[in-house]
Amino acid sequence: MNKFLVFLEQREGVVKKASIEIWNRVQGLVSAWPDSAVSGILAGPADIGQLNGLLAGKGVVYHADEECFGLYNQEAYARLIADTMKRDASTVLFFADSSLTRDLAPRLSVSLQASLLSGCLLFNQEGIAGSCFRPVYSGTALASFLPARQLTIYTILSRGMVEVTATESHIDFMTLQPQHVAVSDLFPVVRRIVMRKGQLDVAEATTIVAGGRGMGGAEGFALLDKLAALLGGAVGASRTAVDEGWRAHAEQIGQTGKTVAPALYFACGISGAVQHLAGIGSARIVVAINCDRDAPIFDVADYGIVGDVFVVLPKLIDELQEYLKKK
Ligand SMILES: Cc1cc2nc3c(=O)[nH]c(=O)nc-3n(C[C@H](O)[C@H](O)[C@H](O)COP(=O)(O)OP(=O)(O)OC[C@H]3O[C@@H](n4cnc5c(N)ncnc54)[C@H](O)[C@@H]3O)c2cc1C
Repeated sequence: MNKFLVFLEQREGVVKKASIEIWNRVQGLVSAWPDSAVSGILAGPADIGQLNGLLAGKGVVYHADEECFGLYNQEAYARLIADTMKRDASTVLFFADSSLTRDLAPRLSVSLQASLLSGCLLFNQEGIAGSCFRPVYSGTALASFLPARQLTIYTILSRGMVEVTATESHIDFMTLQPQHVAVSDLFPVVRRIVMRKGQLDVAEATTIVAGGRGMGGAEGFALLDKLAALLGGAVGASRTAVDEGWRAHAEQIGQTGKTVAPALYFACGISGAVQHLAGIGSARIVVAINCDRDAPIFDVADYGIVGDVFVVLPKLIDELQEYLKKK
């Protein structure tokens, strides 16, 4: 029997949409492999009522609700997951790709002697322990990878546009018995950075309005905040905008930032350097606004507007406000 474990990541007690999406995608795979079962592991205090109606399929979610798991600690999380995998005899572990799981997955892969396939986009439907596809060459191609070991860990990129709705489901929740988690002081909390209430994570957003040096400064991003609010999306940034201190690093998209896969991506005053494009290869529709008609961003854009962001964006916002008023 194939046993799959899905990690449900929470922050401040809120389970990430990307984790719920991965659970549902794994359930979709299981229906093609009848001899399979799915379990979940949720670490940290969280109201499980928030998951009602969101998790599809059948399975059990183990909830380690002790305070000591509230904040991410690599050592404690790795031990909890490894113990759960051993107890359940799980052979495949799924993570939604995030900065937390990019830190946690390599440690688990070493300690469990498991293959690690990170940043996967799609599974090859012919075998769950078989190949999966990952974007390569800055998202310009998909390559198929096959795990070498029996135990496999996948981190899966959120597709953003996948609707997270469960039709038929039967999920049991089981609170894990309190356990003493003695962690070393190798991972002290140095600084806590809390997102603004209601702020969307770019890695989970279906619409992203991103800005670069062309936004001219932190105040220029107010236009992007406004557009993102109207579209129900998140604001992203190029590395230049982050290095200049205009936006937080959590919003950086690209090779040294986050990889995103929104349905709609606006690149405003972003040149389209290869390191930026590395993060947006899976975006479905790219709209670029740039005053330089030769900017490389136009090579990957589905819609391009050659113009000054400070002229184009206010018009776009006005039109959108009018449209939303009439709707
Ligand atoms: C190892 C490494 C890793 C990197 N990782 C990343 C990464 O993760 N993410 C990332 O983004 N970059 C990354 N970079 C940096 C990358 O190479 C580029 O320098 C960066 O993406 C450029 O940011 P930008 O497009 O905002 O700025 P620029 O390249 O300076 O482009 C600004 C653009 O704005 C346009 N513009 C200016 N004014 C206006 C206006 N008023 N209206 C409209 N358009 C205007 C210009 O025509 C130009 O095209 C990395 C670089 C290295 C070496």
